[in-house]
Amino acid sequence: MKRQRRAKIVATLGPASSDADTIKRLFEAGVDVFRLNFSHGSKDDHRARHDIIRALEKEANYPIAILQDLQGPKIRLGAVKDGKIALPTGSTIRLVLDKAASDAQHLPLPHPEIFAAVMPGHNLLVDDGKVRLQVTGCTNDMIEARVVTGGVVSDRKGVNLPDTVLDLSPITAKDREDLAFGLDLGVDWVAFSFVQRASDLIEAHALVGGRAGVMSKIEKPSALTAIDDIIALSDAVMVARGDLGVEIPTEDVPGAQKDLVRLCRLAGKPVIIATQMLESMILTPTPTRAEASDVATGIYDGADAVMLSAESASGQFPVIAVETMDRIIRRTEQHRSYRPIIEALKPTIEPMPQHAVAAAASEVADVIGASAIVAFTQKGTTAYRIARQRSPVPILGLTPEISTARRLALLWGTYSIQCDEVGEYSQMVEQAAAQALAADYVKRGEKIVVVAGVPFGQAGSTNNLRVVAV
Ligand code: PEP
Repeated sequence: MKRQRRAKIVATLGPASSDADTIKRLFEAGVDVFRLNFSHGSKDDHRARHDIIRALEKEANYPIAILQDLQGPKIRLGAVKDGKIALPTGSTIRLVLDKAASDAQHLPLPHPEIFAAVMPGHNLLVDDGKVRLQVTGCTNDMIEARVVTGGVVSDRKGVNLPDTVLDLSPITAKDREDLAFGLDLGVDWVAFSFVQRASDLIEAHALVGGRAGVMSKIEKPSALTAIDDIIALSDAVMVARGDLGVEIPTEDVPGAQKDLVRLCRLAGKPVIIATQMLESMILTPTPTRAEASDVATGIYDGADAVMLSAESASGQFPVIAVETMDRIIRRTEQHRSYRPIIEALKPTIEPMPQHAVAAAASEVADVIGASAIVAFTQKGTTAYRIARQRSPVPILGLTPEISTARRLALLWGTYSIQCDEVGEYSQMVEQAAAQALAADYVKRGEKIVVVAGVPFGQAGSTNNLRVVAV
């Protein structure tokens, strides 16, 4: 099987897509990375999905990435008296630490860390920003706020605090337990929600210990402020437009998306654009034209992957949503405006041999009309460096490590094969040609460009480029 596009598809599994037949159909329709969303579902649900994916991977002989998405510190109101309360615009309300206190003037907010960090002028956004409160005063157990945008709030609705940097790790006790579970299962990527600062990533890496790639979900203004350090310390990034669009003005989300994709591409870190891409397909078998354009924009921006959430997890048309996304990506990548836009965003090359060789591989392959760039890679670094150039020539990653092959399923333009460790240079050339032929990436008489770090087995030392006539 060979995908006919460069950008990848991430699909979230849920109640609409958890049986073996549907997961197989999603994969055949184009899913490269399956997302297990730990905000929903039990451990048993996730284990069952994981096992189905791994069985499918074996049957299809095709590496599939599994992304564990941790819930993070979801802040919620407590139980509200009579289930809901109307907050008129212009009125004053008190948020209190006491879980049991709830009446027309008091709302329970059982999160002490908020009371410690919030300041007058900060905004509290309830229920995805439908109700906006502005803090006018606070003590250790009470926040007084003016209702800027009124509405009805109900039990346990989510609260976003765009202006407040909370003095807490975004990795909760539940996340730690879920993470240990996910790593034991063998997930390939772990997404950390509500990352606020670079030190959150240091903690994330310490917990993951190299057993999976660490992905930062960018959904806080504070993360945007510290974005260079966050990207530098992440293995990948998700533009989590759902919460990001609550925490920053909606009109700023497209610009933030452009910045994030560009910065990730410069850094050679895979980036996913997430949330509401084909939202109307939760209920209908065709997307809106605006949604098709949104997916295409992500592709023109050069994102590594675009993601489906409720469309594939709980919608009525999960497989059709993936087929639709696949078609939009292919048509966009074939459009005459695609290459000029992608080329215009080409990163400058750092003056280091490993970067120069990777960039040269991309140039050489394009100029000589090679059929594939074959990258020998231990941890994927060589493949990341080549993919950063967004070459029109497909990349074939050859790696002795199955974990690397799976992780690379997220990477733009890259298909990976687990193969035997190569010991010698001549073996490398033979192996590259044989694998590219077997995977139908080249035909006899055509050329491939082979890239590796020599001596072999030393991760990250891309220093060798060879043109091979197959
Ligand atoms: C988002 O907020 O866009 C997102 C992907 O996160 P979640 O689905 O966990 O809210």
